Amino acid sequence: NLAVVSLCCVIVVVMRVSSKNMMRAVQFREPGGPENLYIGEVERPVPGKGEVLIKVKATAINRADTLQRKGLYPVPAGVTDILGLEAAGEISEIGPGCNQRWKVGDRVMALLAGGGNAEYVSSPEGQVMPIPSTLDFPQAAAIPEVWVTAFQLLHAIGKVMAGETVLIHGGASGVGTAAIQLCVQAGARPLVTAGSAVKLETTRNLGAVGNFNYKEDDVVAEVMRATNGKGVNIVLDCVGGSMYETNINVLGMDGRWVVYGLMGGGNVNGDLLRKVLAKRLSITGTTLRSRSLQYKEQLVQDFSRLALPLFENRTFRPVIHTLFPLAEIGRAHELMEDNLNTGKIILQVEE
Ligand code: NAP
Repeated sequence: NLAVVSLCCVIVVVMRVSSKNMMRAVQFREPGGPENLYIGEVERPVPGKGEVLIKVKATAINRADTLQRKGLYPVPAGVTDILGLEAAGEISEIGPGCNQRWKVGDRVMALLAGGGNAEYVSSPEGQVMPIPSTLDFPQAAAIPEVWVTAFQLLHAIGKVMAGETVLIHGGASGVGTAAIQLCVQAGARPLVTAGSAVKLETTRNLGAVGNFNYKEDDVVAEVMRATNGKGVNIVLDCVGGSMYETNINVLGMDGRWVVYGLMGGGNVNGDLLRKVLAKRLSITGTTLRSRSLQYKEQLVQDFSRLALPLFENRTFRPVIHTLFPLAEIGRAHELMEDNLNTGKIILQVEE
């Protein structure tokens, strides 16, 4: 009868509307191991003022995601708790107040404060970049977080100059593989540390002129040999505590020590300050995710202007270790936490 048929029609319409407003996204049940990760149904974001909505084709994972999953990385105020600091895809909606630099259908990649491991993500329009025509979506998803970080470390913070020598720890990491290439392009000499022969081979192929296994080699002696006893101008340090003695010994006069991660802990137990004083060293800590919108937009604009043309002409190349479907997010986190990746771990978002 008519009333039942009408009710069914209403239910079907409501289900259609609500599924249109829903999307799949990486979630975790409670803070803990990778087994807590799953793909859940959540509300699709609505682009706010000055934001665009991106239909995600590929995204990536970062160390910050693994820390957030463990409950060790508080999400910045006002940011979604969905994991994912970068994504590549197509613009699907333009929010209010945007300045017309993007249109629906544009191929883009974005530096995100969160939310990238999902079918859709909303991003401030200034943190969105065009995908160079030579790259596909997975390659593009390997760029925003680690390349913009490396760009910030070397240029905005480290103020690298041509002819200088830079020691990059974690040389085969996502950030490291980007930093080596940026260093070469800046006319500086990259030296790296990594934990295996296979990883060191990759860093060599990317342009690192000194490649040291921190588990086997005497890194201080090797770096001093490679710099004719002068030491390096800059250390890009994502290790911290366990590498601090190496750093104070390899830095030359007026050296700059840029701390951006603490994978080897935050404790220092030794006469650090004596060498800081004697060598006139500067130590700077830096983050990216918690920076202001304005800072990140400026950095993304500078990176777009100076670095994207070099992806276009294939001077720069994103380094990808593995592609997983989004549903295999747990395996992706395990791989990263076992230190097995060289370069990026990418998640593909199927239709
Ligand atoms: P990744 O691809 O996961 O690579 C990290 C690598 O570092 C590991 O594969 C491992 O390689 C090495 N490593 C791990 N623990 C180590 C230790 N105790 N001593 C020496 N090497 C160690 O990392 P990523 O995503 O590029 O991130 C690298 C670092 O940058 C992380 O600490 C991350 O939190 C940080 N980060 C900071 C910012 C910022 O703005 N501050 C932004 C992005 C990333 P080996 O096999 O060579 O040991």
